[in-house]
Amino acid sequence: MKSKNTMPLPVIPQPVRAEELPGQSNAEVITAGNADPALGTEGYELHITPTSVTLHANAPAGFFYGQQTLRQLRAADGSLPCCRIWDKPRFGWRGLMVDVARHFFTKDEIKHFLDVMAAHKLNVFHWHLVDDQGWRIEIKRYPKLTELAAWRNSIGFGLDPGASRNYRADGRYGGFYTQAEIREIVAHAASQHITIVPEIEMPGHSSAALTAHGELTCSGNPCTTNQDGGIFHGIFCAGKEAPFEFLQNILTEVIELFPGQYIHIGGDEVPKDNWKKCPHCQQRMRNEGLQNEEELQSYFIRRVEKFINAQGRRLIGWDEILEGGLAPNATVMSWRGVAGGIAAATAGHDVVMTPFTHCYFDFYQGKVGQPKAIGGYIPLEKVYEFEPVVPEIPAEKTHHVLGGGANLWTEYMPNYGHLQYMTYPRACALAEVLWSPKESRDFAGFQTRLARHTKLLDALGVKYARTLD
Ligand SMILES: [Zn+2]
Repeated sequence: MKSKNTMPLPVIPQPVRAEELPGQSNAEVITAGNADPALGTEGYELHITPTSVTLHANAPAGFFYGQQTLRQLRAADGSLPCCRIWDKPRFGWRGLMVDVARHFFTKDEIKHFLDVMAAHKLNVFHWHLVDDQGWRIEIKRYPKLTELAAWRNSIGFGLDPGASRNYRADGRYGGFYTQAEIREIVAHAASQHITIVPEIEMPGHSSAALTAHGELTCSGNPCTTNQDGGIFHGIFCAGKEAPFEFLQNILTEVIELFPGQYIHIGGDEVPKDNWKKCPHCQQRMRNEGLQNEEELQSYFIRRVEKFINAQGRRLIGWDEILEGGLAPNATVMSWRGVAGGIAAATAGHDVVMTPFTHCYFDFYQGKVGQPKAIGGYIPLEKVYEFEPVVPEIPAEKTHHVLGGGANLWTEYMPNYGHLQYMTYPRACALAEVLWSPKESRDFAGFQTRLARHTKLLDALGVKYARTLD
């Protein structure tokens, strides 16, 4: 990055190339096609002189990101510093995941969250819609999911009941999105050039679904949403046929609602003891020649992948889907460190890096005075050190690293203000890692730009963490 330091460009993420020119401009923005082909569909060129502001791009996403840069440049004092910028993203997958199962966030909160993501050129919203403690998506064929499984007796997790407003008239805690609301959110995301990746967890973390449909467990007994964090035995039976039929019917509705390429099926943290005791599961293993319960999990995921592929979509799951053999076309989201990502990319599968060492925004971001978090410690600088392309991936396989994302597991984030506090400014650092060239990484420079960038966060109404130790 060339810089004359006349007036530092307060841009996050940092552009690939930016040259500061003397003066400022208040000219109208002129947009034009035919940018440098090397900029692809998301890149843009911006030229600001005292008398003109010109934005070139090859596609709508490029114009959109150029506009986000203009917005950031204006946020400092309203005028535009003269400059020339040539910019495009390093990675195509620049994500944030939000868990709405542990606590529910309203349609308008999600739309605001998407707006702030877009202002940071983040483009994948991974929506963790179901987990043990709640089912959040209306499924027309199975109304009990939202009548029963979207609710629990209390806020849970030892939290103050007053920390959330999401209570039903009868006092039960939770909520869900109607299909009309989901369509509205999907359309809003598209207007912000964000793709939504819906996650329907299976075969584990499924206590909510199995609260409403207990017949789909190994024992036939229902589960409950009234539980705090942990790994539970709310697991679909892999021996009976009914769970597959149920999940396929759900995925059919999910695929109709979400136009993006990827469907996330979870696949993480599946204790196998139910399957070991279950005659249906054991019979399935004998019929299919499966050696152990890990292979039974692999059978489960492969079968679901076949269905998803037949609908023209791609399956993505957490790195546990590697165990027992990876489904043939699956993309892996590597969270237990980067080992899963290395294994998958080396085997020729696409991967998204979200290691808990750098990308778990439910961990503490400061050492003192912080609200209760799940544990760990990931300060801003640690996020900034995140590198999705690790050296263990052979050079000819690095193109399989689609990018990365951070995860907001919300056990201890009972309201939207708290969610934003845990997200920003760490997501500013993430945005820079995923967009800007690796060689331009400079934490001191980032901190200087971040201090200016908070004006934009303020203008966007973001309740970010301000002082951190
Ligand atoms: Zn079973």
